[in-house]
Amino acid sequence: MLHIKNLHAGIEGKDILKGIDLEVNAGEVHAIMGPNGSGKSTLASVIAGKEEFELQQGEIVFEGAEISELDPEERAHKGLFLSFQYPIEIPGVTVTNFIKTAINETRKAKGLKDMPASEMLKKIKEKADMLEIDRKFLSRSLNEGFSGGEKKRNEIFQLAMMEPKLAILDETDSGLDIDALKVVADGVNKLKSKDNAVIVITHYQRLLNHIVPDYVHVLMGGKIVKSGGKELAYELEERGYDWIKEELV
Ligand code: ADP
Ligand code: MG
Ligand code: MG
Repeated sequence: MLHIKNLHAGIEGKDILKGIDLEVNAGEVHAIMGPNGSGKSTLASVIAGKEEFELQQGEIVFEGAEISELDPEERAHKGLFLSFQYPIEIPGVTVTNFIKTAINETRKAKGLKDMPASEMLKKIKEKADMLEIDRKFLSRSLNEGFSGGEKKRNEIFQLAMMEPKLAILDETDSGLDIDALKVVADGVNKLKSKDNAVIVITHYQRLLNHIVPDYVHVLMGGKIVKSGGKELAYELEERGYDWIKEELV
């Protein structure tokens, strides 16, 4: 599904990613971990196509097509979803209206008409029920006064509605309480299937007690320095990152 080859990227003349190779197949959950400043969010941003980052070398192949020339919207229309580390507030636009617009934009890009209102409503109800989202929440203004947990709930709701092929969830390094982590974990577990894939970027080993990854990659200094199965996350929880640094020298 996603094949990243020798990716080098930076920002404002600064080299951040220094040769990333990563392959993600349908049905897999990958975790990317690493110390603060190692380039995790940069990797997510470069895959999603954020314009401020410069791709210096390498390829990003998604579903057989090189996507590094596409803008973020085009990538989203192809089925890529990036969670927002700092979601925007849009007063006056409800959670429901925001997602309706996003879905219809994606359909338009594929040459489809708007989703019929009754079908949209059915889908909203179905996904809200699945994620145990209160109906009142759906008519609130997007992110306005949302708690950390509510922001996550909205993000997972967007994910459920958009049904992307590949979701990249970049979790902030701080500020998420255990309830918010559980919202993310439960949502991801309900949404994962043999046809989609998830990359969870996290500083929190404890998130991985709830979302069990198939593969764990450690990013350090802009490179993936170690990959393994879920047991690597437990090892990192116990031993931190320093032992990996020592292995490298
Ligand atoms: P992580 O998500 O692993 O904490 P980041 O990808 O956010 O790491 O950052 C990697 C490096 O890139 C850091 O040294 C950071 O200071 C730098 N960096 C990230 N974003 C920017 C930016 N917008 N401008 C300049 N430097 C940046
Ligand atoms: Mg950081
Ligand atoms: Mg980050």
